[in-house]
Amino acid sequence: MRTLFLAGNWKMNPNSHAAAAELAQAVKVGVGQASDVRVAVCPPAVYLSQIDAVLEGSPVGMGAQNMHWEDEGAFTGELSGSMLIDVGCTHVILGHSERRHGLGESDSMINRKLAAALRARLIPIVCIGETREEREEDRTEDVVAGQLQGSLAGLSAEQMTGVVLAYEPVWAIGTGLTATPQQAQDVHAFIRDRLSDTFDRATANRVVVQYGGSVKPSNIAELLVRPDIDGALIGGASLKADDFLAMIRSARDLATKKG
Ligand code: PEP
Repeated sequence: MRTLFLAGNWKMNPNSHAAAAELAQAVKVGVGQASDVRVAVCPPAVYLSQIDAVLEGSPVGMGAQNMHWEDEGAFTGELSGSMLIDVGCTHVILGHSERRHGLGESDSMINRKLAAALRARLIPIVCIGETREEREEDRTEDVVAGQLQGSLAGLSAEQMTGVVLAYEPVWAIGTGLTATPQQAQDVHAFIRDRLSDTFDRATANRVVVQYGGSVKPSNIAELLVRPDIDGALIGGASLKADDFLAMIRSARDLATKKG
């Protein structure tokens, strides 16, 4: 059985280290020692060391929002996997649509970052998803299949089970529009079938696939209840501790029922 996994992508928020620490502390207290649902927060890189200290003793993981594919060297402004491990990261988000579409990240760049993340022993959260135009042109499956093929190239089945995927339709990110639970389930089932073709069914069944795109307390349960949706990557609604904790409670209720 796959354990539900909720990750908060704080993006370029909040504006001060004090506010970031306060948010992390509230998440830590709210989660307590619960282990029935996996939880992580992904703060801006400048706050990582401090948030690591805040989260000490907590099962809440910490992810970076990006990393470079090289292990060290002349790459101004970049961060390596070993640096992220050194400041306490457990996870790293790769290929978020705001980087793919806003900053020109390609599948082959994401593939190199993925290899570097695995070398560093970070758990990668690899984001994939179609734009509104691609969905309207009925190309969702082609786009997602291409992103999977390009981003995951060269991975062994064993490595694949240590990778988290996040299906995030670009048109649903930060827009208030959410894929219907059926739309999301359909793409998640398609992703799992593709993983089964590329690796094998047992591997596909072990991979955690999160949904992302305007997830909030009022819609998370109807998404997580679907068989192939194993959690959520949450942007805006993860910046309010009460909302993030409410979503974790929904996931815990479901985990208990499923268990
Ligand atoms: C995200 O940042 O990955 C995301 C899904 O954002 P939001 O929840 O705000 O749509």
